[in-house]
Amino acid sequence: MLFIFAGVLLVWRGRNIIKGAGMPEGKIIYIDKHGRGSVTKPLFSSRLGITGKPDYLLLKKGMYIPVEVKSTSMPRKGAYRSHKLQVAAYCHLVEEHFGERPSYGIIKYDDGTYKVAYGNEIEQDLTAVVNCMRTDMSAANVLRSHEYWNRCIACDFQTACGEDLNL
Ligand code: SF4
Repeated sequence: MLFIFAGVLLVWRGRNIIKGAGMPEGKIIYIDKHGRGSVTKPLFSSRLGITGKPDYLLLKKGMYIPVEVKSTSMPRKGAYRSHKLQVAAYCHLVEEHFGERPSYGIIKYDDGTYKVAYGNEIEQDLTAVVNCMRTDMSAANVLRSHEYWNRCIACDFQTACGEDLNL
């Protein structure tokens, strides 16, 4: 089982910026108070073998929309690929849990919101990334996949990984 972490994925140019810094429109449904069954635990997908819980759910026109809140400004070129895949994972979890597929999810940044369309392309990308992560998790040795020294500084695996860019 994999938990969804934004930091393990890479950067992808975005195009679906929603203007404005306010909260997205829709009725907020806190996931642990949802009417159609109590959901106090993280959502689980048996198909992908992932688990996670969005920061909150919106109910808009009968559709449940996961929202991920970031405490940073929106990247200049739109949401990072890692953020979009994280929201795609929540869309997948929401679909499997509620039996209804959201057509999009939302990233709420400090200064605006970004709409992530949940179509076949990003779902396939998500499946490929999850499979790749699972393969890496069972591998004896995994090479570093980035050149960001500041990512290594904040990493909990610095002492064990042997690929730390600050060494
Ligand atoms: S310390 Fe190792 S595991 Fe951590 S981010 Fe750097 S390369 Fe990745």
